Formats: sequence, structure tokens, C-alpha cells
Amino acid sequence: MKRVALLGHPVGHSRSPAMHNAAFRELGLDWRYEALDVEPARFAEVLESLPGQGFVGANVTIPHKERALEAADELTEVARAVGAANTLSFEEGRVRADNTDVEGFLAALREQVPGAPAGMEALVLGAGGAGRAVVYALLSAGAARLDVWNRDPKRAEALVADMAPAAGKTALQSAVTPSTASIDLLVNATSLGMRHANASPEPREGAEFFKAVPLSADELDDRLTVVDLVYRHDRTPLLRAAQARGSRCVDGFDVLVHQGAASFRIWTGLQAPLGAMRRGATDGAD
Ligand code: NAP
Repeated sequence: MKRVALLGHPVGHSRSPAMHNAAFRELGLDWRYEALDVEPARFAEVLESLPGQGFVGANVTIPHKERALEAADELTEVARAVGAANTLSFEEGRVRADNTDVEGFLAALREQVPGAPAGMEALVLGAGGAGRAVVYALLSAGAARLDVWNRDPKRAEALVADMAPAAGKTALQSAVTPSTASIDLLVNATSLGMRHANASPEPREGAEFFKAVPLSADELDDRLTVVDLVYRHDRTPLLRAAQARGSRCVDGFDVLVHQGAASFRIWTGLQAPLGAMRRGATDGAD
């Protein structure tokens, strides 16, 4: 049996084990995906021990994505440009690091808007690890304009400075005050909207989102495509508001499934069964 690990802290909320194990079952592979809760101080030690225990690869999530990059022997161009890795593969004693959040985001977006984001004008909320992957994806795929807003504006400015070499013809800038005026793509790459055990019911939750992000729900309309990287069964406050106003919506499960499919292909060399992965990811999710 071959094994794949998820390295994170915490990992209990992740839908990746259910999603990948559904894919292995669907293709009749004797593989198993296991979530390992790894404290930051133990990351290097745990990573080193994995190949000897039958692991052929791993996904890496918060808070280890930058550390994974440092620990790898080999980086793909995408992982290097994003500055974070979410997918590791172990071959002949070497660790190779990739970032499939970029491909996953683009594939999910293109299911709704074929050809996107070429020529589109976009606003990205968030400048953490997910924000970096989304910004790199939009630049590398030819967005015409890209504004980046973050709660801590210095982090948005740093991201824009880091990504400037990849900007090409895209007008890339940080935005102190986010606005949807003249944009056609809005992406939430903050963690706002995640369900917590004591989540307050709608509409208070939606009001909290639009207070934390200085935008009004009334700025959303049918011109817009809205992508929310946060995934939850009952849709996020942003996607509920977007759907009610006629925007095209891409949810966090769509992105999760496509980034997972790209990781699956790296480890197994096979095309992933997307339907089984989506069912695995969403069944029983809260
Ligand atoms: P991260 O590196 O910890 O970044 C968190 C981001 O959220 C930062 O931009 C942070 O702003 C912002 N934020 C947190 N609390 C906020 C608040 N109260 N008000 C305004 N902004 C706030 O996390 P990440 O890796 O980027 O992940 C972000 C989200 O994307 C998570 O929910 C994650 O599950 C999701 N994600 C989903 C997928 C998928 O496949 N669907 C893939 C990757 C990530 P500051 O810099 O100001 O703190």
C-alpha cells in the first residue's frame, strides 16, 4: 500500500483525506491518505521520516507551507514564484515541492468562465498564502488589472512588490480601499467566512464579513464573477450575497477539488476522478 500525508496544525477540519481516499477507491488504487497533526517545531523531523514509512508524497497546509519550501531539495517554478508549497513528492531520497493552488484556482474559475482570467480586471481580498497563489495565477494567466486588498496593508504592499516581476502587462497594485467599480472578478482569499463552532446565524454573519472587508454587498451584481476560497457546505456569507445579486459563483470546494486533482496527478501519474473527489469532499462537510 502507498501512503500520502497531510501535514498541518490543526488538520481536523480538512476535507482532503475524504476527498483523496474517495479518488483512490474510485480508481481501485491501494493507496491511503492520512492527516497528520504536526507541530511547527517537529515539521522537519516528521517530513524526513515519511519516505521510510511508505509515504510517496504529502500535502502541506497552514502553518507549514513556507517551511515546506525551505525543506525541499527541488522546487517547481510555480512554488518558487508563489513562495509556498502545498504538494510534496518523495523520489529517490529527494523532496520535490510544487504549488497546486495556482492550477486549482484557474481550473475552477475556467469551469465557470472559459478563457478567464485573460483580459479581466480583478480584486483579490487577502495577501496570505492563498492570496499569493491567486495573485500569481491571475498574473501568469494574463489578467489586465489586479488590485490586492489586505487587512494589514503592509502585507498587500509586500505581495505586490514580490510579484512585480511576474506582472507582465497586468496593472498590479495594492488597494487601501477596495472597490468593485469596473472590475469583473472578485476573489476572497482571506479566511473570513469560515464556519466556527459557534458561528452566528445569517444575516449577522454576512454583515460581519462586509464590515471586516470594507465593501458593500450592494456592490455585487450580475457583471461579476465571485470566487471564495473558503469552503463550507452552506455557502459562505460572500457567496450567498453574490448569488442573491446574480453574480457567477465559484466556491471553495471547486478550488479544493481542482488543486487536489493536480496533486493526485503528481503523485499517481493518473487523471483524477473529479466527481468522486467532489462527493468525497462535500459528503458530511459542515
Ligand atoms: P493565511 O496565510 O493565514 O492568511 C489569512 C488571510 O486572511 C490574511 O490575508 C489575513 O489578513 C486575512 N484575515 C484573517 N482574519 C481576518 C479578518 N478578521 N479580517 C480581515 N482579514 C482577515 O491563510 P491562507 O493559507 O491564505 O488561507 C486563507 C483561506 O483560504 C483559508 O480559509 C483557507 O482554508 C482557504 N484556502 C482554500 C483553498 C481551497 O482549495 N479551497 C486553498 C487554500 C486556502 P492579515 O494579513 O491582515 O492577517
